[in-house]
Amino acid sequence: LQSPAADHKVTPMMAQFIEIKTANPDSLLFYRMGDFYELFFEDAEIASRALGITLTKRGKHLGEDIPMCGVPVHAADDYLQKLIALGHRVAVCEQTEDPAEAKKRGSKSVVRRDVIRLVTPGTLTEDRLLDSSSNNFLCALTRLKGGSLTGDSAYGLAWIDMSTGAFHVSETDDQRLAADLAQIGPRELILPDMLLQEPEMRLLTEQSGAALSPVPRAFFDGATATDRLARYFKVKTLDGFGTFTRAELSAAAGVLAYVEKTQLGERPPLDPPSRESGAGRMLIDPSTRANLELARTLGGEKQGSLLATIDRTVTGAGSRLLASRLAGPLVNPAEIARRHDAVDFFLDNEILREGLRQTLKGAPDMARALSRIALQRGGPRDILSISDALGASREFLSRLGNISGPMPDEVAQAADRLAAAPHELSEELTRALKDEPPLLKRDGNFVAAGYDANLDELRALRDESRKVIARLQADYAEELGLRSLKIKHNNVLGWFIEAPTAQSDKMQADPARFIHRQTMAGAMRFTTTELAELESKIASAGERALAIELEIFDRLATAVIEAGDAIKAAAHGLAVLDVSAALAKLAQEEAYTRPVIDMSHAFEIKAGRHPVVEASLRRSGGESFVANDANLGPEEEAPNGNIWLITGPNMAGKSTFLRQNALIAVLAQMGSFVPAQHAHIGVVDRLFSRVGAADDLARGRSTFMVEMVETAAILNQAGDRSLVILDEIGRGTATFDGLSIAWATIEHLHEVNRCRALFATHYHELTALSQKLDRLHNATVLVKEWDGDVVFLHEIVPGAADRSYGIQVAKLAGLPASVVQRSQQVLTQLEEQDRGSKAETLIDELPLFAALAPKPVAAPAKGPDPLRTALDAIDPDDLTPREALEALYKLKAES
Ligand code: ADP
Repeated sequence: LQSPAADHKVTPMMAQFIEIKTANPDSLLFYRMGDFYELFFEDAEIASRALGITLTKRGKHLGEDIPMCGVPVHAADDYLQKLIALGHRVAVCEQTEDPAEAKKRGSKSVVRRDVIRLVTPGTLTEDRLLDSSSNNFLCALTRLKGGSLTGDSAYGLAWIDMSTGAFHVSETDDQRLAADLAQIGPRELILPDMLLQEPEMRLLTEQSGAALSPVPRAFFDGATATDRLARYFKVKTLDGFGTFTRAELSAAAGVLAYVEKTQLGERPPLDPPSRESGAGRMLIDPSTRANLELARTLGGEKQGSLLATIDRTVTGAGSRLLASRLAGPLVNPAEIARRHDAVDFFLDNEILREGLRQTLKGAPDMARALSRIALQRGGPRDILSISDALGASREFLSRLGNISGPMPDEVAQAADRLAAAPHELSEELTRALKDEPPLLKRDGNFVAAGYDANLDELRALRDESRKVIARLQADYAEELGLRSLKIKHNNVLGWFIEAPTAQSDKMQADPARFIHRQTMAGAMRFTTTELAELESKIASAGERALAIELEIFDRLATAVIEAGDAIKAAAHGLAVLDVSAALAKLAQEEAYTRPVIDMSHAFEIKAGRHPVVEASLRRSGGESFVANDANLGPEEEAPNGNIWLITGPNMAGKSTFLRQNALIAVLAQMGSFVPAQHAHIGVVDRLFSRVGAADDLARGRSTFMVEMVETAAILNQAGDRSLVILDEIGRGTATFDGLSIAWATIEHLHEVNRCRALFATHYHELTALSQKLDRLHNATVLVKEWDGDVVFLHEIVPGAADRSYGIQVAKLAGLPASVVQRSQQVLTQLEEQDRGSKAETLIDELPLFAALAPKPVAAPAKGPDPLRTALDAIDPDDLTPREALEALYKLKAES
């Protein structure tokens, strides 16, 4: 766009548009014109494509047609929602004066307009634009070079949910950053524009799935960060909130600066920032999170994810809390037990639980209603929501009073929060509001009868006047002998008398009494002094009534905002109760049991099941799920050793078994019971998986490359508290390459990482490794061969698979009979040739990987390595660059 100065023929309206657009370059500008929001130029092109609405033209700019499209104001929310979902930002520009005012300034004057709101994915508060079961996090990310204790870069994260007021900060490092972002799952991510320009950062942040909003570095200014926070929370010092690192403060300042910018000065009520330590959560990297389909399936759906399968909550806030618990399972056994205790409590007290769930079902989303009220976007229904939800709290408290015996901490704490809620205020709100008030306060008519005497009087006057009008109509009709005479109302004329033209001559004959207003096709409209007087009485009664209602609204809203902290605490209490009760319901319905979690290295699952596969088998009404044991604990507790190598044909159930064990660990540590007869798990601090095969074409990586990148991350990072799930490593390359990589990977896991691991493979040769690796245990999935076909029993047993049954599986899949037969012939031929060149012989010939690995196994007692000796003889500080290069050549030649 060129500035208006460059062209003299720009219309005043276009000049205004360009000025406002220039001030909001990264947003689509919704420019209010009458009953429409219009978009122009490139905005129009983007929006018409995104919304599937017609692109038209309006006037010319610098000799070119101006592209334009528009959306009706009454339907604007739907269009906003679509645009936001696609990651766009929208600036809503309204007329800020009456068009009549503009006319007074001159015929060429345009109506004043201003952007009244910037809508971005991370700053939504409207129920219609939000998903009730997910948090809507706006996250700020900043980096301090050399900011950590070790001199590495430190990253600050600060994330808020404007619709509930939640505010968290944390500090992280290069290694954890991606996993931490994946745990938060922000809808919008703000970061310094310079940072986003680094290719690695761009990749990492794009992978988070958030809409990216680069902002100037100044947003994160460390020097003014403390002041900005103190100002926002109206405190003198942040000491009361705890201590924060520099990176955390800078990120928190960034997020607040962005809020102030987008909310144009309004300050949404936020909780004081609470510090989250990544170390308190199980680390789950983004690909593991995606592979295990925790919150979404690989296809991006909620349905079919673990979260959707276990969610029995009945409120939006409960559902959000469950999602955030699942996203960040705990690692502290005491904290985990606290949650399990609450589940146990609601299992034992079924009547209380079902009563609570019934009450909660009708309870509105208090936290979100509160935020809207505080942002001046609330209506009568939001106030009613608060009083209804507080009513539900009280109901639960009185039920709880009937329970004898001790209450677990988690429940007792939630109950305390409910008890501290502003119940008197809630009674007042209930008395003040009608049961089903209108959505918008400007429509009035939401205050209950009997609440305010003045209001009642005005309403009576208004209603009385309406009756008087009805009487007047009857009087006129009778007097004039005109049954078709009506008294009507519209916005242009107000009240008027209407009669068919053909029968209105009596009125026309008395113009002093019946004042003519309008002639329609076939009808005439009149007014009288009597009617005009009544009209002004009604109008002023209505206006005065509305003014009183608005005053009452403001008073109630202020009281609600003042009680905001207690209301928020109560909302959180309800969410905790909802989640605990829902997990108890789940445990009861699905026969889950309470896991034992401690600081051992045990991983002992008896009769474990895959929660999602089990549910889907049940839905399809087919075979039932076959439960399986796993035992990966240390030797003294588990004779089986701590890596299981699982062989078996495709479709036998290997992946299912791998995933179910990972999911059981996640469920147990998030505080849920688990789908198993018994589970004993020594805390898992990191969960890694390499499962499935999805090309990452968007990033230009082949399946094999993705697989190797993920495997590398695991081998470099897994420790003795990690749980590692590896499925079909090496599949993406030639057989011997793949086998060799899988081989070396197992040795490394066994000797160096020393983690608990499940490894599924189709390379049967690997089973020979268990002869050398004492903590490697072979397991296989039972199949039955029957009449040349194969039947899957899905049962995991000790031992190794002897065959792949690939051809039988292909037959099951419907490969033509001729192809099946031919492959059988080829196979027989190949097997004959292969005899004698089996990989098992490798076991005797190859030294163990451990012999080459640096730690923790000592170097083997062999003769001195000549390369090593040569290397030791070199002192780099003594060499010129040229000599160093020569030394390198020499070493290479010797190797
Ligand atoms: P693999 O990884 O061995 O190729 P999968 O784990 O993908 O096999 O399992 C294939 C199918 O078998 C699954 O989709 C599921 O329907 C069924 N299945 C797997 N494990 C079980 C089980 N334990 N009980 C019942 N059915 C199962």
